[in-house]
Amino acid sequence: PVVTRIAPSPTGYMHIGTARTALFNWLFARHHGGTFLLRIEDTDRERSTSQATAAILRGMTWLGLDWDGEAVSQFDQKDRHAAVAHEMLARGAAYKCFASQDEIEVFREAATAEKRSTLYRSPWRDAAPATHPDARYVIRMKAPQTGDTVIDDAVQGRVTFRNDLLDDMIVLRSDGTPTYMLAVVVDDHDMGVTHVIRGDDHLQNAARQTMVYDAMGWDIPVWAHIPLIFGPDGKKLSKRHGATGVEEYQAMGYPAAGMRNYLTRLGWSHGDDEFFTTDQAKEWFNLEGIGRAPARLDFKKLENLCGQHIAASDDAALLHELEAYLAVTDAPPLNDVQRDTLSRALYCLKDRAKTFPDLIEKAEFSLNARPVIPDDAAAKTLDPVSRSILKTLTPQLQTGTWTKETLEPFLTDAAAAHGIGFGKLAGPLRAALAGRTATPSVYDMMLVLGKDETIARLNDAAT
Ligand code: GLU
Repeated sequence: PVVTRIAPSPTGYMHIGTARTALFNWLFARHHGGTFLLRIEDTDRERSTSQATAAILRGMTWLGLDWDGEAVSQFDQKDRHAAVAHEMLARGAAYKCFASQDEIEVFREAATAEKRSTLYRSPWRDAAPATHPDARYVIRMKAPQTGDTVIDDAVQGRVTFRNDLLDDMIVLRSDGTPTYMLAVVVDDHDMGVTHVIRGDDHLQNAARQTMVYDAMGWDIPVWAHIPLIFGPDGKKLSKRHGATGVEEYQAMGYPAAGMRNYLTRLGWSHGDDEFFTTDQAKEWFNLEGIGRAPARLDFKKLENLCGQHIAASDDAALLHELEAYLAVTDAPPLNDVQRDTLSRALYCLKDRAKTFPDLIEKAEFSLNARPVIPDDAAAKTLDPVSRSILKTLTPQLQTGTWTKETLEPFLTDAAAAHGIGFGKLAGPLRAALAGRTATPSVYDMMLVLGKDETIARLNDAAT
């Protein structure tokens, strides 16, 4: 059975790269009917905050990346980490190093000055078992110093690391806390993780972690180190390219399904498919489709996909998500009338909106109560002649049932009766109904607003 995980450190906001890594792990687990776990790597007590953990949970929830079981705290496992470090000692795979920070510093400075390798080789590695019960020590891995450590990576292929270039890394600090390198291996082992999918900035760590697996005689997971996300200019993604935080994207009003689609395509491909549903992504996702080249963030493509997802959403789900969007912004929530009108308007709005702010702008005619205040361009279309035409229209509009099929000829005929084309009449109608010159079609607005509201708005504009 496949077990994957996302293991973010709660030290800031949730980065878009973390979200993409989480998504890949989630898709891979779901594809295989496996398990997807969330581990909060809060071992660094100084930098970890509960706010950052909360932001991770919110980000995951927004993106619909449901994890199995409870989120696990790495810090909670600290005794287990220490126990494994001591087991490594007992196995002769690690040793107590009593070198002080100062000693190591002196060594480094000298090495730098003499242009020698600054790789620290502890004298305690081969010393007789230390008998300094009072002295502070760290536990270091007794890493192989010759030969290579080979990583067979599902994305990067076979990668070889020279052991003579890796030091005896610390696994347990002098205060008894584990380093990342130890904790991550112990937790992945204990949680039964079978596939580690993460950023390729961890590739070298995989070599060091392999040594820990080997020392403990544990099975090594399948590694899949994915290229990081780059900016549109091919440089490593940073704030100067635009938003890097997941919640910023949520606040900009991108729908979660579009975001998932876009992030899935960011470094993974399935033939020429660009637009796909989350179900399709789960069905198709595999490690073979992950590319080796860094993915470049492309806001145009993101918007384009988001637009397609909005268009493809069913109205109830879309309204629900739009209200969730409003809840994370400063905007007031919808009242009952707005919700009701908007739910009837969505069919004619969703084809052309790329984000929720877009959708709301297009929906303005249905959200704002009377009186409609026309903007300057719309006000210009409401000249005396147009107003008098609007006035003659309203009594005629009272009769009959409204459908697109009846409204269309009615308005065309009405325009003709005044010696103008429908195009000329449409401007004042848009102005009267929406106060704008760019709106959904006049028929759609009339049908959404209904007879009473439409006639009231036309009368307002006519007088
Ligand atoms: N806490 C590490 C990070 O945020 C996890 C790396 C890993 O997935 O092993 O980068």
